[in-house]
Amino acid sequence: MPVIASTIEQVREYVTNARNDGQTVGFVPTMGALHEGHLTLVREARQATDFVVVSIFVNPLQFGRGEDLDRYPRDLDADVALLGDQADLVFAPSVDEMYPDGDVSTRVVAGPAGDLFEGAARPGHFDGMLTVVSKLLNIVGADRAFFGQKDAQQVFLVQRMVRDLNVPTQIAVVPTVRERDGLALSSRNRYLDESEREAALTLARMLTAAREAGGQGLGSAIEAGRRVAEARPDVDVDYFVAVDPATFAPAPEEASGEVLILVAARVGSTRLIDNAYVSVAHK
Ligand code: AMP
Repeated sequence: MPVIASTIEQVREYVTNARNDGQTVGFVPTMGALHEGHLTLVREARQATDFVVVSIFVNPLQFGRGEDLDRYPRDLDADVALLGDQADLVFAPSVDEMYPDGDVSTRVVAGPAGDLFEGAARPGHFDGMLTVVSKLLNIVGADRAFFGQKDAQQVFLVQRMVRDLNVPTQIAVVPTVRERDGLALSSRNRYLDESEREAALTLARMLTAAREAGGQGLGSAIEAGRRVAEARPDVDVDYFVAVDPATFAPAPEEASGEVLILVAARVGSTRLIDNAYVSVAHK
């Protein structure tokens, strides 16, 4: 079982001791309600580094008004049990430990790529996310931190922040872990009832349809995905777009090669996201 630390000071002490023993440090930031997607990140960290730190913190700064901050699932004991021996240290701070003044007056600003897609739907979300990730990277001081491709825009912005601000932690990206039927694992899947769970599969099906139509060009790929959603009045698609993975700028219809297709949709009261790399032919 991992050691549980609730203060920044304790984390620094454990990490310093590990470093003094010659160990490298890996870090997996999470909001808890852990599932196999998180555990895959942790296993990658375990393989690549000696001392594995997992943070569990539901960051109020990245939730907008009316979002699910209050109902977001929290179960530290279950999370720690799931981690077992895969993690050495769990950092589970209180909101007060992270934000002793209630808020921060200095924050990280995501820039224009943070205003698109998830950033457009959730104003301030990415600034709040980057601010807490920056704090956590400074607290842990890991050699390598692990993020999921599931949150494609998030990991793009984190990589850019680390480059822009010369943060001395390497960022590793781990492919999206899915259920057998294709549904991307997410803590928010816990909100779904049986029929919503079935509806939620639409996101992955849209991406699959787009991938299969990639040979006919990007326009056809997007259209094929949209057609899947049209048959599902219980799925309210927010966006279904292709971007250039290198810049996150929307890909032009005549784009060819590898694009990243992003989807966000509301199923009942739950907002879900997914994405996939799709190879498209020039048309
Ligand atoms: P969260 O607890 O939702 O903030 O997620 C913590 C980390 O786990 C983030 O880097 C996510 O991208 C990653 N993650 C969440 N779901 C998955 C998944 N299905 N596959 C891979 N990584 C994931």
